[in-house]
Amino acid sequence: MPGFEVFGAEERKQVNDVLQSGVLMRYGFDGMRNGHWKAKQFETAFAQKMQSQHCQLVSSGTSALTVALAAAGVGAGDEVIMPTFTFVASFESIMMLGAVPVLVDIDDTLTLDPKAVEAAITPNTKCVMPVHMCGSMADLKALKAICDKHNLLLLEDACQAIGGTFERKPLGSYGDLGCFSFDFVKTITCGEGGAVITNSKKYAVNADQYQDHGHDHVGNDRGAETHPHLGYNFRISELNAAVGIAQLDKLDRILATQKRNYTIIREVLETVKGVTFRRVPEGGEENYSFLSFFLPSQEEAKKVHKALSEHNVEACFYWYTNNWHYINGWEHLRNLRSLAPLSSEIKNQIQDLNHTDFSKSDAWMGRTVSSLIKIGWTEAEVKQRAEAMKRAIQSVL
Ligand SMILES: *Cc1c(COP(=O)(O)O)cnc(C)c1O
Repeated sequence: MPGFEVFGAEERKQVNDVLQSGVLMRYGFDGMRNGHWKAKQFETAFAQKMQSQHCQLVSSGTSALTVALAAAGVGAGDEVIMPTFTFVASFESIMMLGAVPVLVDIDDTLTLDPKAVEAAITPNTKCVMPVHMCGSMADLKALKAICDKHNLLLLEDACQAIGGTFERKPLGSYGDLGCFSFDFVKTITCGEGGAVITNSKKYAVNADQYQDHGHDHVGNDRGAETHPHLGYNFRISELNAAVGIAQLDKLDRILATQKRNYTIIREVLETVKGVTFRRVPEGGEENYSFLSFFLPSQEEAKKVHKALSEHNVEACFYWYTNNWHYINGWEHLRNLRSLAPLSSEIKNQIQDLNHTDFSKSDAWMGRTVSSLIKIGWTEAEVKQRAEAMKRAIQSVL
């Protein structure tokens, strides 16, 4: 997955354009910037690549989620449905706005179970936020039908699945809004950065204003701009945006290499009795940044994970006990440990996460092991890795 593996002369050239003028900010200083508008250039290219009408670059994937929610009018007391398997940014971005995260089970896609989503809807529900974890997607068709029926927003977190598609549409472009991260370990990186895409002019204008203190961005004098509403500072710098331009040019090659490496490993693991694979919803194509598979039981999955590291197979993950990605590790959320008082809406409405039944999620996550797919591996190295994985798994099963 990591775009940092291909960081090179192209990224350095883009950054040097910015360093030469010294205009590190994306707005203003027209005369000094030698015609370089890196953030704007990246936004235009990214919107086109994601087949969306608008793109707003921001400072991170986490801020992209917050900006997207704010742009669509989600705030205090609104409930946002999110999965138990994700990254902490999901509930962080929601709670930042005083909104309430509602955690629901995943299924064998390792993303939101549409039935669990429908069961969690209340009069306060405003948004469904599927997270396309580890390169593959939620059942967007089923989720969109639910959102249309109940008049809810569909906000895709595509931070880990850039380049994947559903019904031939780029992931992130299917819902009302889509979010991406360009942090240092993502498929393409800016160092730090994120993006919101949408086909709604209204959300795009709101996002543009919200991420820059509510500035209306009309005219050439920042000091004289009006502020239609309150905002915040989630801006990206020109330096980070410049890196992203070069990385975006490499996306297709990165995806092709991931697919080759994934396929080699998958074909070998398909010959191992007892191994099954994560379900990709019909109409979807993953971005091949991870290969996720199930073992017959939780006990065996734990042992396989250990055996993989004993066989020197690096970069394999057992998310069930990983602090970052599964509710088991989020003691701070379950006990609402915040630095300062939370909004009363959050305190009153949030589930008792210590006692909610997530046994359906446990049943899938407990059996899941994922292998990262790197792009720097040679074909011979991938073949070796696949055989070592097979030996490690067979030593347990
Ligand atoms: C990385 C990631 C984010 C947040 O991105 P940052 O740029 O690190 O803030 C959000 N959601 C998911 C699923 C991610 O993997």
